[in-house]
Amino acid sequence: MNEFAPPSLRQPILRQGADLARAGLISSEQIAAIDQVARRYSVALTPALAHLIDPSDPDDPIAAQFIPTLDELENRPEERLDPIGDRHHSPVKGIVHRYPDRVLLTPMLHCPVYCRFCFRRETVGGSQALLTATELDLALHYIRGHKKIWEVVITGGDPLMMPPKGLGAILAELEAIPHVEIIRLHSRIPISDPDRINTDLLAQLNRSKPVWLAIHCNHARELTQAAGEACLRLARIGLPLLGQTVLLKGINDDPTVMEALLRAMVRNRIKPYYLHHLDRAPGTGRFVTDIKTGQAIMRSLRGRVSGLCQPTYVLDIPGGHGKVPVGPNYLEPHQITDWQGQRHHQPNQEPVAPDRSSC
Ligand code: SF4
Repeated sequence: MNEFAPPSLRQPILRQGADLARAGLISSEQIAAIDQVARRYSVALTPALAHLIDPSDPDDPIAAQFIPTLDELENRPEERLDPIGDRHHSPVKGIVHRYPDRVLLTPMLHCPVYCRFCFRRETVGGSQALLTATELDLALHYIRGHKKIWEVVITGGDPLMMPPKGLGAILAELEAIPHVEIIRLHSRIPISDPDRINTDLLAQLNRSKPVWLAIHCNHARELTQAAGEACLRLARIGLPLLGQTVLLKGINDDPTVMEALLRAMVRNRIKPYYLHHLDRAPGTGRFVTDIKTGQAIMRSLRGRVSGLCQPTYVLDIPGGHGKVPVGPNYLEPHQITDWQGQRHHQPNQEPVAPDRSSC
């Protein structure tokens, strides 16, 4: 591992084949292929994550998430440009309103890193990656006008990529809407660029309404000391931290690897929230696992690992029909299975009608 090259904000983000080759992460023969993929899908890798990669390991779990491969240009019939149907639920630009009590707000479609399995890979990182002032006003107007919206999830892209004052202005607008009680942000920044969690940003995140932060993390190695310190800074201003993970073949589709990740999250004050089954965006075939594998991993954790470490395993039903838990299931008619696989009789749970005959 390249441990002698500590990350620094002064080091540039790697965006092209030549950058990755200079960093020793690919050979010069691979540059043309990487650039071919980069013309179709955005590429970015921060120094903080690049220095975790062991270039001598062909199966390195960090490299696999961020270094493009030519098979991303191959599409399969089951892959969709908009796998979870965001467009179908977007009444105005920058809003996705799928469930009655919450909306997604996407002011910024840039990310610090571009994950090769991203379900929004068709929209993130392009030239139209920021809402204009007018578009943002219209999006906020929509939220003000829909009084059932209790929670606003700011995602993208990565909202912590925004200049702190710009993000703070959006948070202030949302705080001023009486029916919006909860603001949630989704980010890769604490993992991929922890130095950005600085006093300017913390000052903007410290609000009177609850702000929750969901941190995307797929392997224990991403939770470095610097990432842990960034999480601590966030926790100290009162942000509850949630973890979201994508189940990825060859990266974390193994009970031991998943257990290490979930324990590392909790150690760093992050409550594992969702384990997502992979959404089938174009060119993501190399990351696919089946749901049975995900269920077996979840089953392996039950009982053996603290409840604090248990995420909910979910699938976004293709086409925009929302998220559902996909098991495993422990309950059958009249039987229940414990964490060790032993079956037990499940007594009748039917309510008994009160006997009023003696009244
Ligand atoms: S950080 Fe999130 S939105 Fe950005 S590329 Fe990765 S998965 Fe997609």
